[in-house]
Amino acid sequence: MTFKASVLTLYPEMFPGALGLSLAGRALEAGTWSLEAIQIRDFATDRHRTVDDTPAGGGAGMVMRADVLAKAIDHASPEGDARPRLLMSPRGKPLTQARVRELAAGPGAVILCGRFEGVDQRLIEARGLEEVSVGDFILSGGEPAALVLLDAVVRLLPGVMGNAVSGEEESFENGLLEHPHYTRPQEFEGREIPEVLISGNHKKIAAWRRAESEKLTKERRPDLL
Ligand code: SAH
Repeated sequence: MTFKASVLTLYPEMFPGALGLSLAGRALEAGTWSLEAIQIRDFATDRHRTVDDTPAGGGAGMVMRADVLAKAIDHASPEGDARPRLLMSPRGKPLTQARVRELAAGPGAVILCGRFEGVDQRLIEARGLEEVSVGDFILSGGEPAALVLLDAVVRLLPGVMGNAVSGEEESFENGLLEHPHYTRPQEFEGREIPEVLISGNHKKIAAWRRAESEKLTKERRPDLL
């Protein structure tokens, strides 16, 4: 089963972008997932191909029009399409590894990338869009956020990650941040690899990693505990 991503954007040239390389790029070529970037402007109806207008009530910036966006969404995702419709938005629910896993287990996603001040609220309601945020900061557009979301999803698709085990031991998968990593050389600028890691005692190593994980999470992300 192929994960099908349809991205609605004013900048289709931004896709696949970084996702055309490395793991995601190889998976795209192999057909593990597919990506179509749809130009929202193609659904404008006037001579100037207008997609935005001034905000009702006044104020700075422009707002993306509900009628144009609805046409684009209905084209990308006709009735009966089982894929969730996402709107990248700083007002959305913060993206979590749990939601990423759910998306990766599904048929794909239709992703609307905002620009300017955002999109007309009536579009969000009328098309049942799920607002998703990638963090408490403001990007200039939804495209980098969509790339972030798709990167996180695609690496979980069957066959994409070489070593499937490494996915399960990652930060957040067990509700904790991951322990520190080390590799050769044994000594770097006077710093040694922690003794326990070269002891060969797997039980002790697992206990050390668990303890480091808990310590780090307590220090940096107590909200996760
Ligand atoms: N005026 C809006 C911000 C608009 S930023 C506000 O204050 O809430 C323009 C577009 O960038 C948004 O429509 C959204 O699609 C995208 N964007 C910006 N920050 C984002 C974030 N943290 N997560 C997801 N999308 C974001």
